Amino acid sequence: MAYIELQALSKQYTDKKQWALKEFQLSIEKGEFIAIVGPSGSGKSTLLNLLTGFEKVTAGQFILDDEELTEASPKNRNIAMVFQEYALFPHMTVEENITFGMKVRKEEKQIIENKLHWASEQLELDGLLQERPKNLSGGQRQRVALARAIVREPKLFLLDEPLSNLDAKLREQTGALIRRVHDELKATTIFVTHAQDEAMTLADRVVVLKDGQIQQIGTPRDIYESPVNLFTASFIGRPEINQLSGEVLADGSIIVASEKLGLIDYSGNDKQVIVAIRSEDIQLSDNKNDQKGTVHEVRYMGSDQLLSVKWREETLTIRAAAHAEIVVGQEVNFVMNQNKLLIFNNKEQQLRIE
Ligand code: ADP
Repeated sequence: MAYIELQALSKQYTDKKQWALKEFQLSIEKGEFIAIVGPSGSGKSTLLNLLTGFEKVTAGQFILDDEELTEASPKNRNIAMVFQEYALFPHMTVEENITFGMKVRKEEKQIIENKLHWASEQLELDGLLQERPKNLSGGQRQRVALARAIVREPKLFLLDEPLSNLDAKLREQTGALIRRVHDELKATTIFVTHAQDEAMTLADRVVVLKDGQIQQIGTPRDIYESPVNLFTASFIGRPEINQLSGEVLADGSIIVASEKLGLIDYSGNDKQVIVAIRSEDIQLSDNKNDQKGTVHEVRYMGSDQLLSVKWREETLTIRAAAHAEIVVGQEVNFVMNQNKLLIFNNKEQQLRIE
């Protein structure tokens, strides 16, 4: 049995027919950093509330370190949670915020001192211990909340959108700090976010959630390169993956915009498919015999540029080198990397290409 077993965890709120969470099934090893990502309403908060015990499960089991916690009261779970809203005590200093829980639990004075020192070093709070939360920036407040969580030495950390209130630069810095602290402590962490880039950059494994159901579980690379369905393909990765309407012929040829793009081993009945390809898997070329399209938008990104290219009835986003001089209205040639084509049937499930 893994360190954490979430076995078919399900939740149906009494006033709703729909399942807020349906048979959520996941084993987590000790020390793993898991991200749960999904759009609003996908069941992320519901999952957190079942793990903390703030909501009762409708069905399923939650086992943490060989202990069944499905029905345990929140205070007996040894789980620490960090919220988007920090939830610090405003009348206490940073030091008091961090040590409060340990004092309530009557931990030894020297141990409290040591842990305070260690946590404030880890979270770069050394100069701020006598400040009150109102004098801190959002990033500093979130670091205090994290310090308060780590001194508890819980069996599981739940991080609920901890970066959402921070501006872009702080999000990146605080995200990196969270990952560093995790690597130092080897603390088992479940990080919940609606932001796919946070999930992808921070986690060992990502769980993609939609309408209360797991769509896919995998490493960030798995999820990006081999999405099992169209939802995952389009939810993960920016710019959004290109989606083109295609057709599969009897011999397995895939046809898009009247061009044969590849072959597939497929004996299903649905001949209409969706062909998806990421912007970086289409390359501009100098060969006039390659596919031809017209640029109708250029978004300069600094490190590269995103071109919106009309190709017959389709529109493609192509990632081009930053130095390429490309203007709106220009005709460009391009090739698609056939090995990177993802083909989805009319149920939006990916079909394997040969
Ligand atoms: P997320 O956190 O991903 O936005 P939620 O877990 O909040 O998703 O919501 C999942 C589904 O459960 C939604 O359809 C939502 O309306 C419903 N839901 C969430 N909380 C409650 C509640 N307390 N009572 C009734 N329905 C709820």
